[in-house]
Amino acid sequence: MKLRIVVLGAGFGGLELSTILSERIGDRIDLTLIDKNDSFYFGFSKLDLMFGRKPAEALKISYTNIVKTGVKFRQETITAIDPLTRRVTTQNGIYDADILVVALGADYNIDATPGLAEAGHEFYSFSGAERIGEILPFFKKGHAIIGVTATPFKCPPAPSEAALLLHEYLTRRGVRSQCKISLVLPFTLPIPPSLGTSKALLKAFAERDINYIPENMVASIDPDHKVAILDDGTELPFDVFLGIPEHCVPKVVSESGMTVNDWIPVDKKSLKTRYSNVYAIGDVTSVGVPKAGMFAEGAARVAAETIIAELDESEYSLPYDGKGTCYVEFGQDKVGRADVDFFSGPYATGVFFEASEAISAEKEHFESYRRKRWF
Ligand SMILES: Cc1cc2nc3c(=O)[nH]c(=O)nc-3n(C[C@H](O)[C@H](O)[C@H](O)COP(=O)(O)OP(=O)(O)OC[C@H]3O[C@@H](n4cnc5c(N)ncnc54)[C@H](O)[C@@H]3O)c2cc1C
Repeated sequence: MKLRIVVLGAGFGGLELSTILSERIGDRIDLTLIDKNDSFYFGFSKLDLMFGRKPAEALKISYTNIVKTGVKFRQETITAIDPLTRRVTTQNGIYDADILVVALGADYNIDATPGLAEAGHEFYSFSGAERIGEILPFFKKGHAIIGVTATPFKCPPAPSEAALLLHEYLTRRGVRSQCKISLVLPFTLPIPPSLGTSKALLKAFAERDINYIPENMVASIDPDHKVAILDDGTELPFDVFLGIPEHCVPKVVSESGMTVNDWIPVDKKSLKTRYSNVYAIGDVTSVGVPKAGMFAEGAARVAAETIIAELDESEYSLPYDGKGTCYVEFGQDKVGRADVDFFSGPYATGVFFEASEAISAEKEHFESYRRKRWF
């Protein structure tokens, strides 16, 4: 009898885990990978979309390209998860698992910020970024705000990258001098665990005349007057608002009863949940690292190794290290890198590598390597 593994979500975490299990024990498993979408796209492709750097079709990678021993992909929407019986219901049927892995990522609650849906935009979903790509060509003068509305949020450097790339985009179009850019972030430093990255970003903001507003979030938007109201009561009139919406687990996860304080708690060592033979990896968990693809991958590796070790009746002894690399786009084809470590010491640390074309090429390789490995 083959081990029945059901993996929910074919994002960074689900794809990496399925790939490892196929490579290592493909002949001993019957793995079903389920996602509601027909294709995968990298989180950072939303920046390409909003600034018109690449068309949507070039950014999507079809799941039909997945051909892996022991793995079958199903494009279905998951409607219920029972973690006690490991039974998953989709709009098409029922899947019973010996081992269940929840990798459903983080969703967005746009309505949590009053006025955002009416008068603002968000660039964290594919469709939101696509919409911004359509309206930005008409933005020629006025005030653009990039603002975080709640924590935690995916890829902490992404709002800073959006501000720097917006500067580059407006400069290229010859309208930058007529536009003001403000960036509202909840932290004192743009990237708290990495002083080097934060210093480089603050310097880049100053050089580009980007108005950095730290230790604040956007609490609401007044749609009639196009004003963003910050946590401290400051009112910022805007012409374009590009928001980072409140994050939450997908509805099917909150309805499953698996969450505690909004996210799924897991054992750091194994990525096991409190339910027998049920794992959770990536953005859907509260494991204590930022919500980013690199960390979802690291979690996938530990969960996969634990599953393999248990199948072989041995023990996996390398716990999740909470380390990851974040690429940070500075514009002009230059990318910086922060290697961050969340678990080794008493507090998170990060080492910064200055933005360069060489790291930009490294980021391209990061993408092409995964395209090849996962599909
Ligand atoms: C603008 C932006 C830039 C980013 N840049 C970076 C970066 O440079 N580096 C980096 O490491 N990370 C980056 N990220 C973050 C990264 O994309 C996420 O952290 C990562 O994708 C999380 O992986 P995951 O496997 O946990 O979830 P996801 O990759 O989000 O996958 C979850 C999957 O579950 C599926 N799903 C959800 N609900 C259901 C359902 N009910 N039924 C079926 N399927 C469902 C979804 O369709 C999705 O495919 C960025 C994110 C954004 C928004």
